[in-house]
Amino acid sequence: MLDVIVIGAGPAGMTAALYASRSNLSVLLLERGAPGGQLNNTAEVENYPGFDRIMGPDLAEKMYAPLEKFGTQHAYGIVQSLKDQGDYKEVSTDSETFKAKTVIIATGCEHRQLGVKGEHEFAGRGVSYCAVCDGAFFRNRKLLVIGGGDSAVEEAIFLTQFAEEVVIVHRRDELRAQKVIQDRAFANPKISFIWDSVVEEIVGDNMMMTGAIIRNVKTEAVHEEKAGGIFIYVGLDPLTEAFKGNGITNEDGWVVTDDEMRTAIPGVYAVGDVRDKTLRQITTAVGDGSIAGQQAFAYIEEQK
Ligand code: FAD
Ligand code: NAP
Repeated sequence: MLDVIVIGAGPAGMTAALYASRSNLSVLLLERGAPGGQLNNTAEVENYPGFDRIMGPDLAEKMYAPLEKFGTQHAYGIVQSLKDQGDYKEVSTDSETFKAKTVIIATGCEHRQLGVKGEHEFAGRGVSYCAVCDGAFFRNRKLLVIGGGDSAVEEAIFLTQFAEEVVIVHRRDELRAQKVIQDRAFANPKISFIWDSVVEEIVGDNMMMTGAIIRNVKTEAVHEEKAGGIFIYVGLDPLTEAFKGNGITNEDGWVVTDDEMRTAIPGVYAVGDVRDKTLRQITTAVGDGSIAGQQAFAYIEEQK
């Protein structure tokens, strides 16, 4: 019987594990991939206090490093379900079941797909969701970036170091991204915009995508925009499939908590991007993680 199981080793889960481990609790961190979560798909981070600029994967490594020192156990596993057995909880992965007095859900989100023809067909052959992973494969090409949020605009700027030209296609005539990021994109001579427009289809030959069919939502005009790659950043969906039967998610799948990260199940907490909240950032993820790590300790003390 463990004290705490943390599900997901993004910034929120790693911080929750750190705080719980430093309180001398036995902590298992379960992760389906490499530690770091979305940080592994992030180019430069420049709004995490203490660092002027740092690459996402480097920040992930720095967050993970102290966990070993404080005795956090780490296991690979894709969590499939959570069962509340009253004074303990059961967490099952695809191959094992673990028991703990408390559970901290930190499963974050994943990129949303556009859902257009050609997206699946050309995935990995011109269609990408990760500039930091794939950008270097697109040297000297013209690239399309879809979306108008922080991710789309920031990653478009990152892609200009490889690409000949980057065209941001946005469905409105105004970006959603933070002002500082917008200003940087507007000042970048390699970036241009196609406003009020959506992608209807991604086209190509058998081997590689060659462009996208773009429709202007105001004029209904349709044209083919030739490009050597397309990076899609149209938002995120919560990773909460495993918890759908637990009565802790809202209609859109986000986990609902109070300010202390408590869900509707006593002893089960949720932290970071997976929560129903307004600001999804590294800073807010680590803030949530620290609160839940501390709450888990208080809960276990109360149950004694
Ligand atoms: P995540 O980082 O999503 O981590 C969740 C972890 O849970 C993942 O490792 C995942 O594999 C794991 N997991 C999920 N389901 C399961 C399961 N069933 N079983 C086991 N493990 C599971 N924020 C900033 O503050 N500054 C930035 O510059 C910035 N840039 C960004 C750029 C991009 C392209 C993106 C996509 C996001 C960016 N963000 C940025 C947002 C930031 O990365 C997130 O807010 C933060 O990573 C959230 O942390 P998290 O731990 O809640 O979730
Ligand atoms: P987001 O903020 O939800 O933005 C998604 C963008 O895609 C929006 O511009 C949206 O248009 C557009 N969109 C949605 N569905 C679409 C569709 N079907 N077709 C075309 N366009 C579509 O998502 P995000 O940019 O990935 O950001 C996610 C979170 O991570 C945010 O909380 C963000 O602040 C954070 N983040 C932070 C940083 C940073 O701090 N530097 C960097 C990256 C991400 P509308 O604008 O019209 O809705």
